[in-house]
Amino acid sequence: MVYIPSDPFTQNAIASKAQNFMSIDTASISTTSELAAIPFNNPLVTGRELEYVRAALSSKHIAGDGPFTKQCQAWLQQLIGCQSTLLTHSCTAALEMAALLADVQPGDEVILPSYTFVSTANAFVLRGAVPVFVDIRPDTLNLDETKVEAAITEKTKVIVPVHYAGVSCEMDTLSAIADTYNLLVVEDAAQGITSSYKGRPVGSLGHLAAFSFHETKNVVCGEGGALAINNASLKERAEILREKGTNRSKFFRGEVDKYTWVDVGSSFLPSDILAAVLLAQFEQSDYIMHQRMAIWNLYHQAFADLEQQGKLRRPIVPAECQHNAHLYYLLVEDLKVRTELLAYLKQREIKSTFHYVPLHSSPAGMKYGRVSGTMTFTEDLSDRIARLPLGAAMTLAEAKQVIEAVLDFFQSK
Ligand SMILES: *Cc1c(COP(=O)(O)O)cnc(C)c1O
Repeated sequence: MVYIPSDPFTQNAIASKAQNFMSIDTASISTTSELAAIPFNNPLVTGRELEYVRAALSSKHIAGDGPFTKQCQAWLQQLIGCQSTLLTHSCTAALEMAALLADVQPGDEVILPSYTFVSTANAFVLRGAVPVFVDIRPDTLNLDETKVEAAITEKTKVIVPVHYAGVSCEMDTLSAIADTYNLLVVEDAAQGITSSYKGRPVGSLGHLAAFSFHETKNVVCGEGGALAINNASLKERAEILREKGTNRSKFFRGEVDKYTWVDVGSSFLPSDILAAVLLAQFEQSDYIMHQRMAIWNLYHQAFADLEQQGKLRRPIVPAECQHNAHLYYLLVEDLKVRTELLAYLKQREIKSTFHYVPLHSSPAGMKYGRVSGTMTFTEDLSDRIARLPLGAAMTLAEAKQVIEAVLDFFQSK
């Protein structure tokens, strides 16, 4: 499949890579100080978090793998329909576990987008692997599956699709490539909880998947994550790696009469106090998603006219993907307009922000990784993206305030 850039700016940017950095005249921007500031991220405390934390504290089981952890894992396993899930203290930790389970060796290669969070690459770099960066699709900003095969060498071991904004990658194509070349697929599902692809939950699509419950994600416990395991053969080793390389999990289940050091490992499990917070969030996840979706849809409708007028491009969600309203972004004409827009919103006390600095252009990315093919869309789109405030605790009135500010900004364009 070929993806045609769906907005005129991409084509312009490809035609002329020259970009003008102009300073912004903030004096001409009016402030509306009577309105309260709107934070970029506004996580919701759903109600039972403290009650569950109290219960965890009084149970005397506050280390990992207590009753709340077990309930969270059961909830996730049911949601995803996977072999097993293990709570971790972050998505980064879950990705590091995936890198250990993939058994990548120094010099092995891992295919991933450059347009992602550092942990997607770092988890594998820690094992001495080489991240091989592939360009993104202009519609979803996800790994371009049509460019993956060209990046494969004899050293390739893993493909890491990142479901950006909770919109799934083109997983059927990626899985077929992985099957052909005998590669492991590790989904970076940090942003993808409750999303699906062709009716199948994100997290069930690769061999392994890593989720995040960091405060900036949809369902949160401050810092937290989970590894979903879809291959029965990886399940036992995953438990061992997470428990400092011991078979302690087996011991607790009564399957062995003492536990001992059996493999490499580390401590990847969160305290049950955090799992208590997470369970309260899981129980309210429908409400959280509903709130986020209401704002996402409001934004999407409100900016349709600006898109029609060619002033910006809205997010594109392919028909086979059900997303989770993880983030709302606008793609504007160029870096100059993006800088002006963010400054304008800041003047109106609205926290809006850009996103990833492409990893291939970062100091560590240049040192540890290499690029396959061109980075045309990665470089173009990362300069033009502006993310708007979105959170389950955000009100529709706040969303309207953001919409008004964006419309006012483009009035002058
Ligand atoms: C947030 C995020 C991570 C890291 O999650 P932590 O839980 O903070 O470790 C990794 N990958 C992507 C794509 C993310 O958005």
